[in-house]
Amino acid sequence: SFGPNIFIGSQWIPFKAAIDTHIHKTWSATSVINGKAINDYDADGKIHQLDSQAVRAPWNHEVIVGEVVYANATIAQQAIAAAVAGQGEWQAVSAAKRAAILRKMADLYEENYAELMALCQVEAGKTLQDSIDEIKEAVDFCRFYADEAERLDDVVYEFIDLAGKPSRQVYKARGTFICISPWNFPLAIYTGQVVAALAAGNTVVAKPAEQTSLIAHFAAQLMYQAGVPVAALQLVIGAGDVGAALTAADNIAGVIFTGSTQTAQRINQSLNAHAQVSGELPVFIAETGGQNAMIMDSTALPEQVVRDAVLSAFGSAGQRCSACRILCVQEEMADDVIELLQGNMAELIVGNPLYATTDVGPVIDIDAKRGLEAHIERMRAEPTATILAQTPMSASSEVSQDQATFVLPTAIEVKSIDVIGGEHFGPILHVLRYEARDLNKLIDAINATGFGLTLGIHSRIENTVEHIERRAFVGNTYINRNQIGAVVNVQPFGGCGLSGTGPKAGGPHYVARLMTLTTEQLAL
Ligand code: GLU
Repeated sequence: SFGPNIFIGSQWIPFKAAIDTHIHKTWSATSVINGKAINDYDADGKIHQLDSQAVRAPWNHEVIVGEVVYANATIAQQAIAAAVAGQGEWQAVSAAKRAAILRKMADLYEENYAELMALCQVEAGKTLQDSIDEIKEAVDFCRFYADEAERLDDVVYEFIDLAGKPSRQVYKARGTFICISPWNFPLAIYTGQVVAALAAGNTVVAKPAEQTSLIAHFAAQLMYQAGVPVAALQLVIGAGDVGAALTAADNIAGVIFTGSTQTAQRINQSLNAHAQVSGELPVFIAETGGQNAMIMDSTALPEQVVRDAVLSAFGSAGQRCSACRILCVQEEMADDVIELLQGNMAELIVGNPLYATTDVGPVIDIDAKRGLEAHIERMRAEPTATILAQTPMSASSEVSQDQATFVLPTAIEVKSIDVIGGEHFGPILHVLRYEARDLNKLIDAINATGFGLTLGIHSRIENTVEHIERRAFVGNTYINRNQIGAVVNVQPFGGCGLSGTGPKAGGPHYVARLMTLTTEQLAL
């Protein structure tokens, strides 16, 4: 279904052959401070080499994709100092110039789509379709936040004081932001965070997920090439406690984080603990997990529900915070829906993400695989749960389970939401039957998880849809469609409760939140 060409941005391009020219390359990633690659550091007058590690493909551990050099806390401190020192110069650059740089970044991403897509596939194990979507979203973020920089520059409130003197209130940069991005959208969310902060006139210390450092490093080179000054963007390639060192540093204006709820809670505690000592009040923006449901009633079309639930649950191997985790089926429809679900899951192609026809690739790493499989085993042993379907590896996938981190797409019927026990970030869909008269109890049980990210609603009764939307506590609802793949400036994305702080990514409040308002007097 992909055809020989793909429309990206504003042009049709022959893409598959182009990507394949990069598939066997190896890449490298280091931290970058003031434009300089960091391979070693000076401590007590002695130069120490930093550790380097091989990066292995999640779909075949024998394939070495590249090498990363991880920073330590000393480098993290240097990165912050460099970004803080660069703040004055970057915030003095006009909004029009900042926007032009971000638009140039979008152009460079499009020109380099083949290498970026190859990296998404080999380092993150993304399917071809997910890699296409990844580039599109990253490009959309660059262009949308460029527009936002210019729009906010024009938002000027004018005042006259009692003596007749004018003043005005304008948006201004806040300072240095730490951007901590996840591996599940290694280009899109990483780029979105960084460009939003740059659009606002803030300098950035970016700390991408360690699992996808190669993509982040490659994209950072494109950012510098587009004209982002080396002082405005510092890149920290790190694992372990480097993120913690960044969020415990002095002089930061804020932290933008996307990842698990637990990590967000830790960052929040660290910022609070640091504030006790420093007295500083940094902004914290977190976009975290979800325990997302799709509710269908008896007026919904079962084929459409199943198609949308399967895509929402197993697309991207379930590694989206928006993914459908619980399909709630009205009792009268349940047997039919389950049968269709089993049939649909049997058709999924699970295997090598380099093959154009693959639907479900690997999960990111061995820890993720172990955690997800442990959940499946727990559910197998749980008397109130039933495994409904599990899709095997595709026979033609040419990957071995031992050499990779595949988790088989699994559907599990449960009798309550509580038994699921939190978010499981992978290709596992729970199915829950409910009686029509218990709809409110169902919505309340979904709310009671404490998460509030996405909700899918399948019904052809407008009143039912409106009722569910009013009673549910979520960030994004989707009606009679799938519940993933929010589009920048079309479905501003982000949740509430345990799912995040807002503002919504790709929406009209995001860049503004990274800025402050200054009231300037205009006459002596
Ligand atoms: N924005 C993505 C979507 O709508 C999810 C982002 C995430 O997983 O963090 O599917």
